[in-house]
Amino acid sequence: MHGNSALPNFDARVSPIDGLLSDTPLADFLPWCRMAKRFFGTLFARPQAVPMPTAADWHEAAGVALFAGFKEDELLRLRALAEQLLADKTFTPVADAQPTGADIAAIALHAALPIVKLGVSWYQGWQEVVLYPAQFIHKAEEMDAHGVVHQMHHVRSGEAWAGGPLILSLDDLKWSGRGEGYDVVIHEFAHKLDMANGKGSGGVDGLPPPHNDMKVADWAAAFEPAYQNFRHRVDAGEETEIDPYAGESPAEFFAVLTEYFFDLPEALVEAYPAVYDQMRRFYRQDPMERFYDVTNS
Ligand SMILES: [Zn+2]
Repeated sequence: MHGNSALPNFDARVSPIDGLLSDTPLADFLPWCRMAKRFFGTLFARPQAVPMPTAADWHEAAGVALFAGFKEDELLRLRALAEQLLADKTFTPVADAQPTGADIAAIALHAALPIVKLGVSWYQGWQEVVLYPAQFIHKAEEMDAHGVVHQMHHVRSGEAWAGGPLILSLDDLKWSGRGEGYDVVIHEFAHKLDMANGKGSGGVDGLPPPHNDMKVADWAAAFEPAYQNFRHRVDAGEETEIDPYAGESPAEFFAVLTEYFFDLPEALVEAYPAVYDQMRRFYRQDPMERFYDVTNS
């Protein structure tokens, strides 16, 4: 099935991880990923059960920099949404992954943050969160310019499949939400927002469905020049505070900049203030205000 040479481009030829996703509907299977930061080798799938978080687990998970500036009532609202996500989604550890209750609480809290003002319906239409202990190998067949198909192995810390599962590396979870602009959970769930309203993987383009009080033209006027500018800076070898992976595609630009929006907003405001403003309107949150206005509240 994955050798179908009629498929038009490289991405559409991506095949699922052996043995893990064989039951996944493959009608729409292009995954959007978070590129690996560290390499741990090939891992294989084997499902297990996950522990439910205790009160201490929730407390520990909320203690990272990502949630600095949250007031008590806001944290309770975030936790209620996180608990709803835990009830709605299936968490499947594979490859001997052994998530703790605090890991599960962290995933749910990080995932809840982008939609705390939008609602849980933004994550509808898919079911499963697959957990690897560390980064994993994604096998793919890619066709070169001469029509020759190559077996490729991509190291990934996360993936989001349109209409399918979201995949996370638990090791990368540990590095997420530390105030450094890196958060694999937020990254993958941002791809899910980009895929909302039933957009197929071919429509995952860094433009989530806009709210009624937003204009696509305003979004484009902020994002397109920023994306071009960022690509130029990366191509020129400039050291950018924002992860160069954002320059991979408009979809990755949106997902990576969403990580910065929540975890290191000052970097995004400084680099691309118009993008920050559009994200503030989309997410209906202002992390700069949350991080830096706490003494006035
Ligand atoms: Zn991605």
